[in-house]
Amino acid sequence: MTRVFNFSPGPAALPEEVLRTAAAEMLDWQGSGLSVMEMSHRGKEFMSIAAEAESLLRELLAVPANYRILFMQGGALAENAILPMNLLRGRASADYVDTGEWSKKSLAEARRYGGVNIVASGQDSGYTRIPDRADWRLDPQAAYVHICSNETIGGLQYPEYPDVGDVPLVADVSSDILSRPLDVSRFGALYGGAQKNIGPSGLTLVILREDLLGGALPCTPTAFDYKVVADNGSMYNTPPTYSWYIAGLVFKWLKAQGGVAEMARRNDAKAALLYGTLDASDFWLKPVAREHRSKMNVVFRLQDESLDEAFLAGAKARGLVQLKGHRVVGGMRASIYNAMPIEGVQALVDWMREFERSHG
Ligand SMILES: *Cc1c(COP(=O)(O)O)cnc(C)c1O
Repeated sequence: MTRVFNFSPGPAALPEEVLRTAAAEMLDWQGSGLSVMEMSHRGKEFMSIAAEAESLLRELLAVPANYRILFMQGGALAENAILPMNLLRGRASADYVDTGEWSKKSLAEARRYGGVNIVASGQDSGYTRIPDRADWRLDPQAAYVHICSNETIGGLQYPEYPDVGDVPLVADVSSDILSRPLDVSRFGALYGGAQKNIGPSGLTLVILREDLLGGALPCTPTAFDYKVVADNGSMYNTPPTYSWYIAGLVFKWLKAQGGVAEMARRNDAKAALLYGTLDASDFWLKPVAREHRSKMNVVFRLQDESLDEAFLAGAKARGLVQLKGHRVVGGMRASIYNAMPIEGVQALVDWMREFERSHG
């Protein structure tokens, strides 16, 4: 068996230990005689799997007692609609910060349900920097302020989270949740699809302050009403049970590694190694402003684009896959989430240096 270093933006690499545990438990989960996929979501076996996953996540992120964790479906893109349906709560509009592809998708979807004010945009900079907080034109009457914590396509990440006063701050954290410590109490809601930094696709996590529950728009599908989901322990309808189980195994792995603080330390080291290599030479172009560079999705281009195919082919031959950038920005993108070991980044950096020596 040969496993590659998978730099995919998502669905992304999972910790090998997690996959091994899942494989060992595939046919018979802990003496139950059943695969987790075959269990009733209301049976005591799955209920224990579900509760353990939630309590591990609560512990990892130090989620305060007045926050609910919802295990939903539909991905972050569905959540872009579900969230305004639930959180507009009679307000005329919500504030959105436009930092690139994913925040543009969020605000376009929200417009179907209410007013959207784009309070700041990175468009003028070609989405290479996050607009200064001092220049945001926030509306104190807004239902919430929406940001995208990490722009997975453009490769931008908030180095720290903005203070937006009393209006609830909402963040799409699909691609950097659990990559670094975060103070949940500063947010009204956090949401993200699982397939970047948590587990398999199909599961969407929402962490929501309790007082924001209730008052969903009448058009909200019942299964997507946050209050209904919360009141039913995320089991109003059948949840994505297997994804929930794997997420729980990832949380257990994270805890055993030393938790989110240790992940942040490792992610800093991986990002420093990769950006350090990029910065050492003009052979590589780095579009994103230094202070807003993502530690999860490292976006870069070759000075000479005609070498792109050769670079990617050589990488693939060395077991380094999924490095091609998103079609919107082109070039390369190395996604180095929690499950990417430093050995993978080292192997990439070694190949980059070798390639530069022979083509530079
Ligand atoms: C991947 C991604 C999405 C899209 O998520 P789906 O689960 O495919 O709906 C949205 N936002 C961000 C920041 C992402 O990285």
